[in-house]
Amino acid sequence: MADVKKPKKNHHGHHHLHALLIPYPFQGHVNPFVHLAIKLASQGITVTFVNTHYIHHQITNGSDGDIFAGVRSESGLDIRYATVSDGLPVGFDRSLNHDTYQSSLLHVFYAHVEELVASLVGGDGGVNVMIADTFFVWPSVVARKFGLVCVSFWTEAALVFSLYYHMDLLRIHGHFGAQETRRDLIDYIPGVAAINPKDTASYLQETDTSSVVHQIIFKAFEDVKKVDFVLCNTIQQFEDKTIKALNTKIPFYAIGPIIPFNNQTGSSSSSVTTSLWSESDCTQWLNTKPKSSVLYVSFGSYAHVTKKDLVEIAHGILLSKVNFVWVVRPDIVSSDETNPLPEGFETEAGDRGIVIPWCCQMTVLSHESVGGFLTHCGWNSILETIWCEVPVLCFPLLTDQVTNRKLVVDDWEIGINLCEDKSDFGRDEVGRNINRLMCGVSKGKIGRVKMSLEGAVINSGSSEMNLGLFIDGLLSKVGLSNGKA
Ligand code: UDP
Repeated sequence: MADVKKPKKNHHGHHHLHALLIPYPFQGHVNPFVHLAIKLASQGITVTFVNTHYIHHQITNGSDGDIFAGVRSESGLDIRYATVSDGLPVGFDRSLNHDTYQSSLLHVFYAHVEELVASLVGGDGGVNVMIADTFFVWPSVVARKFGLVCVSFWTEAALVFSLYYHMDLLRIHGHFGAQETRRDLIDYIPGVAAINPKDTASYLQETDTSSVVHQIIFKAFEDVKKVDFVLCNTIQQFEDKTIKALNTKIPFYAIGPIIPFNNQTGSSSSSVTTSLWSESDCTQWLNTKPKSSVLYVSFGSYAHVTKKDLVEIAHGILLSKVNFVWVVRPDIVSSDETNPLPEGFETEAGDRGIVIPWCCQMTVLSHESVGGFLTHCGWNSILETIWCEVPVLCFPLLTDQVTNRKLVVDDWEIGINLCEDKSDFGRDEVGRNINRLMCGVSKGKIGRVKMSLEGAVINSGSSEMNLGLFIDGLLSKVGLSNGKA
């Protein structure tokens, strides 16, 4: 940004970085932002973390608690906490009224953020850096207004970022935004190997681009061209060419995996509660099952599954005869349809399986009885499952999940598809593929992919080095040269 405020000196006489972190208010964004906050604070940066009133209310069940209180008292990290309105009443059903929610984030949220930022800048140790989710449409504008260094945090794969970033190229070539879109390979995006249009993010495949999410994506990817740095929750080894090509346009740092893994971040990370729903603990049940015998099934926090598909999956699970833990979110079909599983499903499954509304996914994935994951391919879920070395059965539903499936199945070979044709699949195919997965079809490769992930976060690993370079960049942007955050 052009006019960056000179930071105040801290009590050691050094200038000090104070970053405001603002996640997009969805589970899959709040989680990596929380762990990024801990990572940055561990580097000596003061962090003020912002949740919306709604997200705060969901996580804390309405209490006044500060979600970082445990981390602060355990490790003394300087993480502060603030909440802000997203423009809608806390009790409003955001799942049922998805477009109203997104419209509020597109048009109204900005005003509340501005008011909050105004109260946090200036004075001794005031905020001088803003790290906001790439999906917001306003970061560069707000940062410029308050003289902050502007950082965009992209919580998905670099490949997906690059496709959105080059939307203009896709349009020129008729692969996006035309009445009749081309079906041949996309082979002109810098740093991206030829990709089939069916593997691009779902929003890039739609011919009607008037939806509120499209308006958000269009504006957000205009705005991100004006920020100072982009952080990405991926690793260099996974997406080296794509990242290098992006780096010729914008400082882009791969710093992943930003997930709650205990041996890296210690107990501080796991002591922050981030779940928007209360977690069922299924450890006791998992303890009774043989090693690698349980299929974990979850479609994340956001996507909906049609009742028809859910019923076929349910019957497929029964046909497979495997043990399972199935997270059936109360709104998985719709918050109007609270009991979408086929009648008698749980009775028929008996002791073979349990159905729960939500869980601590990392706890389940890292349990030794879990041997497979039927997933919607959310990016956090992919990073987490690689970390836990659990191969996947892919059932992407929308957004980047479609592209993540390609990475997982075609490029890294750490999973298989649930079905070949999503518009026409049945219980027999589901049952067959569950059995293929649980027989260990992808087990060999995932160990090697996990090693890359682990290699990135050791001291001299690429993500740690990139984080260091990013912090150096921040320091020089705010006019610091003493090498201390
Ligand atoms: N998650 C969880 N419990 C569940 C299901 C999901 O803790 O029962 C977490 C999961 O560990 C991940 C996040 O919710 O960190 C979901 O993010 P992801 O990117 O996988 O999917 P999204 O919800 O954004 O579609």
